[in-house]
Amino acid sequence: MQLVQQTILQFTVLVGLVFALTWVLMSVLMGMTAQAARLFMAANLALVVGVVLTGLRTPERSYLYYHVADWATIVGFGCLHRGLLHLIDVDRPPALHSVFPLLLAMLVTAPFAPGPASATVMSLALFGTAAWYAFTAFMDAMRGLDADVFSRSVRAGASAPFFLMGLVLVARTLEVLSGAIFGTPNATASDNPLFLMWATVVFLLLANIALATLATGRLLMRIRSMAEMDYLTGCLNRRSLEQRMKIELDRNLRSGEPLACVFFDLDHFKRINDVHGHEAGDAALKHTVRLIADLLRSVDALGRFGGEEFMVLMPNTDLKGATDAANRMRLALMRTKLEIQGKVIPLSASFGAAVLGRNERLDDLVRRADAAMYEAKRLGRNRVEVDASQGV
Ligand code: GH3
Ligand code: MG
Ligand code: MG
Repeated sequence: MQLVQQTILQFTVLVGLVFALTWVLMSVLMGMTAQAARLFMAANLALVVGVVLTGLRTPERSYLYYHVADWATIVGFGCLHRGLLHLIDVDRPPALHSVFPLLLAMLVTAPFAPGPASATVMSLALFGTAAWYAFTAFMDAMRGLDADVFSRSVRAGASAPFFLMGLVLVARTLEVLSGAIFGTPNATASDNPLFLMWATVVFLLLANIALATLATGRLLMRIRSMAEMDYLTGCLNRRSLEQRMKIELDRNLRSGEPLACVFFDLDHFKRINDVHGHEAGDAALKHTVRLIADLLRSVDALGRFGGEEFMVLMPNTDLKGATDAANRMRLALMRTKLEIQGKVIPLSASFGAAVLGRNERLDDLVRRADAAMYEAKRLGRNRVEVDASQGV
């Protein structure tokens, strides 16, 4: 091997190893999803193995420097794809989803002896499979960054390196294919090892930059959701509920559409804690949120105001609509069967509804809905009371 080739190969290996180490550190120090970090590390190592074996190719043809070299590269792409799924935690498809393409590529290429006769099949399998992995990685990366946290251009920019890799790989696949069809000779890796090594360095950089951006984006999403969500139930916390109220107030002032507020508080909740324990109380709170959230429209906002007291903000809803919705929630709670340690725990809540009056302040709307809720408590609980003193 020429000195220049040797230097670039060493450089490629160094880049791959540094990235592999970085992912281990990300997992250990930053608490990144361990499985994703491990797979990204494995992806870097497999790509390094692939490029080293290819770089060591000699005129006498061996399975190690041909088949194993290409398979290692495909495994690298497969690990990247699988790690990405672990990172973004989409409804995880079975492992076969990631493994199948590389198994297929191995099966198709295995019967061919290394040499010029098998170069086309090997290249097609390598570039085709890698292209498939790169494009799916692009789509998964787009999906992995929430549209309501990141703008479309940020999501596209962060995922673009995978798309770019996919394009290059498709171009290479087509080149090999056209070479095979029209009988023009294709440059193989052993003809042009320098190109292969540079391409691997660029791929390693592109892929790892995209993965690091994605991992950071996911971290931001987690921090944001921790700041906005109630830690126990997963609905909005009081702070983000208040922010949401301000947004809805602005919309109400602009559009004149009614804005309703429903307050509810679980009845005799202390008893659940006292009789069944605090954990049962927590389970009841989570159950309540799941149940009520299912009944709401996507524009409604459900938040925990404190303890076992919740608020639902309902844009474009008049008092009748809010009362009907509150009654639906009340009935759903009353009929639900919360089972804890074999015992069915009855649940009910008292509701208060009010609609924002003209020129009314948010504090006053909240106060009126809360007062209506206390009136429901006073009148016997498990009922809906309305403050109709203002608004529609
Ligand atoms: P009422 O029908 O008048 O609303 O009676 P209540 O027992 O529901 O109301 P009270 O205000 O007397 O008690 C509320 C209880 O809710 C007291 C508190 O310990 C409990 N609580 C508040 N937050 C949590 C929580 O996060 N988890 C659990 N398990 N209990 C909580
Ligand atoms: Mg209560
Ligand atoms: Mg209460």
